[in-house]
Amino acid sequence: MSFEFFDSHSHLNLSDFESDKKEVIEKMAQDGVGTLTVGTSLLTSKEAVRLAKENENLFACIGLHPNEVSNETFDSEKYTELLGEKTICVGECGLDYFRGEKREPQEIEFRKQIDFALENDLPLMLHIRPRKGTLDAYEDTLEILEEYKKTAGEKLRGQAHFFAGNLEIAKKFLDLGFYISFTGVITFTKDYDEVLKSVPLDRLLTETDSPFVAPVPHRGHRSEPQYVIEVYKRMAEIKGVSLDTLIDQVKNNLKSIYKIS
Ligand SMILES: [Zn+2]
Repeated sequence: MSFEFFDSHSHLNLSDFESDKKEVIEKMAQDGVGTLTVGTSLLTSKEAVRLAKENENLFACIGLHPNEVSNETFDSEKYTELLGEKTICVGECGLDYFRGEKREPQEIEFRKQIDFALENDLPLMLHIRPRKGTLDAYEDTLEILEEYKKTAGEKLRGQAHFFAGNLEIAKKFLDLGFYISFTGVITFTKDYDEVLKSVPLDRLLTETDSPFVAPVPHRGHRSEPQYVIEVYKRMAEIKGVSLDTLIDQVKNNLKSIYKIS
């Protein structure tokens, strides 16, 4: 059976799911929910690949999170071993300045992963988190991507995960050919309604980023990929389309960015 709903960014590979991963995946199967399990390090990327190989509606994204660059570097040889039919994306990679981190060490690992994605013709999963009250990490990421775009063209593509930028930033990602995804945050704040309205339906993706930021009515608990259904419901409301229309549209978008169905 293939999926009806898709959570395009979650972390069943993290320790939060250690004790009941099997049960969570079974519940997802019952609800027709698939997910892209996103690596944050070599170890969690390996676990993402293992889960994807074992479960039909699970796929893997492999890479090094910007907050992990003080612990390890991106070793493309090791990540090459993780490539395969169900490895459909590279990341999550990008820039995270939330706690005052410096650009340079993160940028080095980010560029390695952009090169790796281009060499293997895979999309990027972008993690971008600016300092509070600024859009600095977005501005720097766009500067890097715009530079690559000149030579890579359409080969450079991907998903701007957990979008928290403004209209202008969204437009720049759209111009670069990227998809934009929103989490359960849209179920408890109206802050992103305007930007969500501006993103065309054919460039939107749904995600939970579980175990983080559970949507209403699960606030305060560990998030799970099947809660993406709540993100779909709210996104359909904001976009003024039926749930069925959004379900079909997301399926089409997944086919075009990730070649999955
Ligand atoms: Zn994540």
